[in-house]
Amino acid sequence: MTIRSKLLIFALGISLIPIFIITTLYYFNARRTVEQQTLSWLTAVAESKKTHTLSFLDSKKGRVVDFSSDGYIRDSLEKICIKETQSDAISDLKRHLKVNKKSLDSQITSIAVLDINGMVVASTTEEWNGMDMSKDDIFMSCVSKNYGESHTGKTYSATYLDIDCIFISAPLTDKRANKTIGVIINAYDISLLDEITTKRAGMGETGEVLLGRKNGDHVIFLTTLKYAPDMPSRMSVPLSSTGAEPMRLALKEQNGTIIALDYRGEEVVAAYQYLPDMDWGLVTKLDKKEVFSPITHLRIFTIIMGCISAIVVIVIALIISKRVTRPIHELVKGTKKIARGDLDFKIPAKSKDEIGLLASSFNEMTSQLGESNKRLEDYAGNLKGMVDEKTKEIEQMLDELRYKNKEMEQIIYVASHDLRSPLLNIQGFSRELQSSLDQMVTILRESDISDEIRAKFTDPLEEDIPDALRFILTSSAKMDKLLSGLLRISRMGRVTLTVKQLDMNKLISEIIESHKYMLNEANVNIPINELPSCKGDDLQINQVFSNLLDNAIKYRNRNKDTKIMISGKNEDGCSVYCVEDNGIGIPEKHKENIFEVFHRLNPADNDVTGDGLGLSIVRRILDRHGGQIRVESEPGKGSKFIVSLPE
Ligand code: ADP
Repeated sequence: MTIRSKLLIFALGISLIPIFIITTLYYFNARRTVEQQTLSWLTAVAESKKTHTLSFLDSKKGRVVDFSSDGYIRDSLEKICIKETQSDAISDLKRHLKVNKKSLDSQITSIAVLDINGMVVASTTEEWNGMDMSKDDIFMSCVSKNYGESHTGKTYSATYLDIDCIFISAPLTDKRANKTIGVIINAYDISLLDEITTKRAGMGETGEVLLGRKNGDHVIFLTTLKYAPDMPSRMSVPLSSTGAEPMRLALKEQNGTIIALDYRGEEVVAAYQYLPDMDWGLVTKLDKKEVFSPITHLRIFTIIMGCISAIVVIVIALIISKRVTRPIHELVKGTKKIARGDLDFKIPAKSKDEIGLLASSFNEMTSQLGESNKRLEDYAGNLKGMVDEKTKEIEQMLDELRYKNKEMEQIIYVASHDLRSPLLNIQGFSRELQSSLDQMVTILRESDISDEIRAKFTDPLEEDIPDALRFILTSSAKMDKLLSGLLRISRMGRVTLTVKQLDMNKLISEIIESHKYMLNEANVNIPINELPSCKGDDLQINQVFSNLLDNAIKYRNRNKDTKIMISGKNEDGCSVYCVEDNGIGIPEKHKENIFEVFHRLNPADNDVTGDGLGLSIVRRILDRHGGQIRVESEPGKGSKFIVSLPE
């Protein structure tokens, strides 16, 4: 990730995270405050509407009680009850009710006067006259009451009235007010309650006040519903449904606030009150959407502000990051140039900040690096000169060495070759002397010289001279052997090599075949493994492996079965061969000596003949081929001669 992206993320992080946290907290706090304020305000409205409803009912109760104290009504009822002047009295009472009473309160729908038996004797509504209401609650609950008391009915619809009404009754008593003679009932159109509930000033667009009552297992709304004004009959909702939750709670005789579904199934914030006298519920409510619409606006505003701040922060961060990263980019460009070897390049260090400091330190470092580089180049130049000089010296020495070596070989060759003729003379004349001596001994034995003189010749002729001659012959034979050995070695170095790719499987098979006699005698069977080929002179490489095989047979352990193995593999561009035996082995300290000329470890062993030249010839041949030989051995266990040759 680039520094610019990191700076961008950092700036966004430190600016947007606090904005996000603060606005979220502010949003939830504002939401809670709005909710609490709305609920307490709705509660206040509900309480005021409840008081309003109750005072409306109280005024209507007062009206009935007032009518019950009307002397004309009482007298008329008494007269009607006596049944003498019944028809006149009834029509007078009806007129009185219509003209004098109903006119007092325009909100009265109908008035009825009942006798003590519950029969309607006079009513402002014709259909109501003559009805038997002795079993109705409005009569039964009232007839037992005292003068001045009233009763509000629980029934709201009647066959004799076209509209649903609230019925309020009061007892009619005689003059002394100690005997009930009948009951007066005032009926008020229930829609009068709408006047209370539809006054929704300050209730917003969705605000609504509702009055309801329980009817069996249903809730029935008493007032006209804002969202269902044209319902044919009063709307009813089952008590068990999830809608109209606030009204259901009110009808469970509870007061409180709630956010729940209303009769439409819409989520509302509501306050509910129970009206115990009437067994009614009152609900004031506002749609949740409207209540929280300022909060929704606030949220949208916050999101917009967040986006604007993010854009501003990104722009500022981009400008700052560009200013910060520009010198870094220049620094990087400079380091790349310097890395490509341009040590004279200087990074512009304009700013006075840490990056400027870094650039000037970097420039200082490169100039020092340039100086060191120069010193190093000078030193390398000197070193090269020294190395060239030394190489030249070494080459001269090598040439000298090669020349001396050649000279030495020449001397050895000449010496060993030329020394052989005088040696052969010595051997020849010694043998001649030997035969002359033998003749002289015979002559001496046959001659008849005195015993005294014979005795004087016997010792030198039969002992001293023969001993001396034997010594001369043995020594010259030994010398002959040494000289022929030296001759062999010097010839080895002079032979011209014919290097070619050798089939080692064939070459080793031939060697084994030529050693068949020795191998049979030693009772050895050599397993032939697949061998890699190598480059070399056929005859000389044959000599190498013949010598090694010779030794493996010669230096076998005669107390156990002899095992000899020849194997090979390719390794690091060379063909590596191993001639392994389980013979007498070689002590550690002699491992290198055995390759020296005439070096033998056990020359006194008469069973094993040798001249101590085999391994030195092997090493010389391998040296000339650019090959190598080494030995791994353990006395008593056996030896491994490892030969490597060019592939
Ligand atoms: P020579 O066999 O004629 O003595 P070499 O140069 O071939 O001379 O060997 C030198 C000496 O190395 C031997 O005298 C012998 O002691 C020792 N040697 C060589 N090959 C083996 C072998 N395979 N096991 C034990 N000793 C060995």
